Amino acid sequence: MKKLSCILLTVTSLYIPLKSNAWGAEGHKMIASIAYQFLDKSVKDSVDKYLAGTSIEEASVWMDVIRSDHSFDYMKPMHYLNVEKGEQYKQATGDNIINELTDVAQRLRDNKSRTQWGVKGDLEILIHLVGDLHQPLHVGYGKDKGGNTVQVTFFEKGTNLHKLWDSEMIQKSGITKEDCLKLMPKYSKQEIEETDLLKWMEQSRAYLPAVYNFSDNRLSQEYLDKNIPIVEKQILFSGLRLAHLLNTIFKK
Ligand SMILES: [Zn+2]
Repeated sequence: MKKLSCILLTVTSLYIPLKSNAWGAEGHKMIASIAYQFLDKSVKDSVDKYLAGTSIEEASVWMDVIRSDHSFDYMKPMHYLNVEKGEQYKQATGDNIINELTDVAQRLRDNKSRTQWGVKGDLEILIHLVGDLHQPLHVGYGKDKGGNTVQVTFFEKGTNLHKLWDSEMIQKSGITKEDCLKLMPKYSKQEIEETDLLKWMEQSRAYLPAVYNFSDNRLSQEYLDKNIPIVEKQILFSGLRLAHLLNTIFKK
């Protein structure tokens, strides 16, 4: 029996399907890679030390990888929050992306008193959630579960709006980290280095009208062309803001 559970464990850890509740792996990895590029040298060393052999790209998808393990189910509400159309976010205690990011950043500021593995876990959470907060449908409407219940076709293939924004537009367009970095001169340092998480949320939500701007649920090139610049900008901002946050937290 012990042997069997060992085999099962090995098999499940070899095949871990990524669920579609966050930027897909491609988006998160681009964000992590942009952030890493903009870390101060000493901060890069600290991050590498705490990640202990895990690359920042791998660290960025840990929260999605563990979704298949039910002992981590308590983390599911941390990836998002919902605010209905026309309503304002009301700050309250409880598990949501804003509260978790606030807490994890604070825990990391106190990193000296914590264990290596505690800091590693918190880094994996922080790196992932900064990305999620920039995906407009992670701060979307509860009515349609952040676009998860909006069925569409994308280039004739059935999907839902959330999945489309997580990964399918990124995969179809083939955008790269370099495409996102090209947009950098368009934005001010001040805009990029905004640290207020509520502003990040409002900026993501400001794209919701564009996300839902279609009359026919058959989406293809026109929708992709209109919206891929938003995806590129949000990936760029996530990466640069993550770098700024890590530089602030780990500065000596
Ligand atoms: Zn997520």
